[in-house]
Amino acid sequence: MGFYLTLVTCGSGAFVFELRWHLPSPKIGIMEYLMILIVILLPYITLYYASTTDPGFITKENHRNALRIYPFDCIIFHPRNTCRTCKFEKPARSKHCSLCKTCVAKMDHHCAWINNCVGMNNTRYFLVFIGANLLYLLYGFWIVSRLITGIVEATSSSRVDVDIPPDVGQYQLWWDFAFYRETLGALLILTGLLQLVVVGFLIFQLYLIYSGTTTNESMKWDDVKEAIKYKEIMIFEGGPEEAYAFPREDIILDLRQRRVVAIDEHGRASEQIPIGSSGRLVKHIRELVNIYDRGWKNNYWDVWKPKKL
Ligand SMILES: [Zn+2]
Ligand SMILES: [Zn+2]
Repeated sequence: MGFYLTLVTCGSGAFVFELRWHLPSPKIGIMEYLMILIVILLPYITLYYASTTDPGFITKENHRNALRIYPFDCIIFHPRNTCRTCKFEKPARSKHCSLCKTCVAKMDHHCAWINNCVGMNNTRYFLVFIGANLLYLLYGFWIVSRLITGIVEATSSSRVDVDIPPDVGQYQLWWDFAFYRETLGALLILTGLLQLVVVGFLIFQLYLIYSGTTTNESMKWDDVKEAIKYKEIMIFEGGPEEAYAFPREDIILDLRQRRVVAIDEHGRASEQIPIGSSGRLVKHIRELVNIYDRGWKNNYWDVWKPKKL
């Protein structure tokens, strides 16, 4: 978080310091002043909410509730899986954070930028925080471009103090000035590059929610895909209980009495496979259902209005 605050404060400081050389500028009106103020303040305000909101820390008091929020799918989340630090059964979709030193409900990831976990309760604030940063970078890029255009136009209309050959084009002149005023050039490049990174990250986060998953779960699904490639996942059907076999997780029966069997590299099952069932090798991830994907509208609603812990 310290690095982030330094970056934003230095960026804004350099901009404001540079701005005083160019005022009054015909390109900056009263509305722009107001917008600049809001856009500079927004990253700090949204950072405050994203970093100070309880992401969904699971305590001894709310543990029972946390268990009820999401069912175990017996593919990526298994019941009776105890957290060694917190000493309780890990609720479905939760993960223990070694930095926060507790389990977090619907854990996405621990974000160093906000120095907090992103989980069930603060994913919405985290998205608004990314949005505020994107606005900051887009608006910064635009306003710096306008300042440069203002200088170029002023110089072109009165070529008195600057010796410019008549054949130099406006476009080249624009870039020459951007780099002649180093701060403007640096801000232009920084905001230009960083906005691409932030757009990419925002699209990734929105896509995860759209598909009813989290960063943590998407990594677990990658493990499942890998296991399918090595022919390690089996579904048992036709027996008294439907069953999944997944070798990298611990065992047991879930709330709907589905048997989960761990199979080692020699094909030995750690649990007894239900009598009369016939095992079928999973060939594609599509054969497994993500029960947490309840349609994109519900998925977004779930993030915006999280359930009470
Ligand atoms: Zn824990
Ligand atoms: Zn954390």
